[in-house]
Amino acid sequence: MKKRILLFIITLICPLLLTAENKPKYVFYFIGDGMGFNHVSLAEYYNGYINREKGPKAISFSNFPVLGMATTFSATNLITDSAAAGTALATGEKSKNGAIGVNADCSEELKSIAYKIHEEGYKVGISSTVGLNHATPAAFYGHNCSRSNYYDIALEITESEFEFFGGGGIIDYKGEDNTKKSIYKLLKRDGYEVIFGKEAWNKKGHRGEKVFYTHNKRPEINSLPYAIDRDSSDLTHAEIVRAGIEVLSTGEKGFFFMSEGGRIDWSSHANDTKTTALEVLDFAEAIEVALEFYRQYPDQTLIIVTADHETGGLALGYEKGYNIFLKELDFQQSSTEHISKSEITLVEEASKRAHIGWSTADHSAANVPIFAIGASSELFSGRMDNTDIPKKICQAMGIEF
Ligand SMILES: [Zn+2]
Repeated sequence: MKKRILLFIITLICPLLLTAENKPKYVFYFIGDGMGFNHVSLAEYYNGYINREKGPKAISFSNFPVLGMATTFSATNLITDSAAAGTALATGEKSKNGAIGVNADCSEELKSIAYKIHEEGYKVGISSTVGLNHATPAAFYGHNCSRSNYYDIALEITESEFEFFGGGGIIDYKGEDNTKKSIYKLLKRDGYEVIFGKEAWNKKGHRGEKVFYTHNKRPEINSLPYAIDRDSSDLTHAEIVRAGIEVLSTGEKGFFFMSEGGRIDWSSHANDTKTTALEVLDFAEAIEVALEFYRQYPDQTLIIVTADHETGGLALGYEKGYNIFLKELDFQQSSTEHISKSEITLVEEASKRAHIGWSTADHSAANVPIFAIGASSELFSGRMDNTDIPKKICQAMGIEF
């Protein structure tokens, strides 16, 4: 009888011990905005093509050992926007399209896991290749019924007290009418060290406890350039992740770092195939930086890579035939953002000749992939809803949701 009781107690305790052992101290949450399954496949095929391989070649995260998928519908629409999807991925609650960090009728503010994790003593970082008050990053610190209230949303950056913000700058940094106090001034007032450009970062690094790191172009520019368009002076997503790790890894307790590849969505809205392929590869390079960190602390690090929704209804195959021809994209030297209307037509025609199709200039209702590696990564295997992902992150970290 005593033996039985002992066995019973051991079976009860064992899972708890396992969780404690697998509890990640460092969590990376990568969100490829608009990155559906086919975006990952396109990037793999393009990676194979540029490396002169016959078939697809895996990218940094596509062969992670754990693979899952998430449904993405919002509280109001079967096709979500980035605000509702970001809210789901940050707070575990469905909201209406257009809303950031509030419930579906905007009557209640929702608390994102970034705040919950921060309260437990972990450092928190938020980064994006687009503006930091754009929908996805905003959902992790902001609360607003409308995603386009950019100035009000940006004010919540300074209030968040999160240790690291990095990326494309601030949309409407002086308000829509350009008359409000600069968010950059407010950040400094509230104790953030604001660093403009990688030259400044490389020269001096950071000294502050709280850092806001962005490019050194005009403040009206609020995204990093596409990978296809940038030159060596431009800040990259990988460099932002590296800087974020430097700031966040100084704490005893560990960190939570959400990092968005925001422009995969934009090039997909433009149905710009080559720019999209290179954007996903660029996202993979940023994740490679997190992987380097993971290799140093494999038992303490968890990396999750997912998307908020699919954009463009991307298809690897067009009309008829059993091949794709990526060579057709070779001539394109810049994104469709920087070329004339007639050149855009040439790019679109080349995409069709490559047998890559797009079914919409908006988002689609397709499920999105989840890739995970490291401590407690097994939680992210299988089919789930996007609202389950933040809950599972808290579960992995042993934090009450
Ligand atoms: Zn979009």
